[in-house]
Amino acid sequence: MNCEEFREKMFLYPDVDGDFFLHLQSCEECKKEFDKFLQVEKIISEKVYEAGIREEWERVSLDILKRLRLEAVKRKILIIFLIFLELIFFFLFIFVIYRFLKVFSFNFSFIYLIFKGLLVLISQMNFYLFY
Ligand SMILES: [Zn+2]
Repeated sequence: MNCEEFREKMFLYPDVDGDFFLHLQSCEECKKEFDKFLQVEKIISEKVYEAGIREEWERVSLDILKRLRLEAVKRKILIIFLIFLELIFFFLFIFVIYRFLKVFSFNFSFIYLIFKGLLVLISQMNFYLFY
C-alpha cells in the first residue's frame, strides 16, 4: 500500500484491512496524517453528541462511506474499461495496417501484371511491324 492509497482508506477507518496498519507502522507522514484525522473525528463526534444529532450524523457518515466505496468501484471499472478500449484500438490499428499492406501488395502485383502485359503487347507489335 502506498501513501495515496492509505489516505483514501483512512476515511473508511475502522473498516480497514491489515495492509492499512502495516503502512501506518512504517510511514511517519501517514501516521501524522492519521493522528490528525482521528483528532478531527473526535471533535466532530463530541460536537455531534452535544448537538444531539447522533442518529442523523451516523446516517450521513454511512452515506458518505457508501459513496466513497462506490467511487472506488467506479474508478476500477473505468480503468478496466480504458484498458479494454486500448486493446480494441491496438487490434484495430494492427488490422488496418494488415489490410493496408495486403491492398498495397495486391496493387503492386497488379501494376507488375499491367507492366508485363504492356511489354508483351509492345514486343508483339514490334514483331508484326519489323519482322
Ligand atoms: Zn505513507
